[in-house]
Amino acid sequence: MPPTSDASDTPGPPGDAPVYGLTAVAPVLFKAACPECRESFELPADAFLLAIGGSRRTTTYSFTCPSCDSSVRKPAGERIVELLGQGGVRTLRLHSVAGSAPAGGGPGAAG
Ligand SMILES: [Zn+2]
Repeated sequence: MPPTSDASDTPGPPGDAPVYGLTAVAPVLFKAACPECRESFELPADAFLLAIGGSRRTTTYSFTCPSCDSSVRKPAGERIVELLGQGGVRTLRLHSVAGSAPAGGGPGAAG
């Protein structure tokens, strides 16, 4: 192999290693409408709060209208819950999950 005649150092930024596994993604925006002022807008994921209740009726998502500054709360269906969840919306669980802890001595408790 002949040595490359072009032995000049590349004027790259010192200590700037290429970053692998990092992808720039666009911020997730959700289109919403305010029932108060009838304004439609797009809000980022962190502007929403998803509240999951014990039943579907108590599962809602809320946000603050950037136009009239009123708090809006709407029922969230399964699709909305899934959509907001994937978008990174904060999820608040209203019902306290006690867990299905076995009452009394379970089988095989002592080994
Ligand atoms: Zn509004």
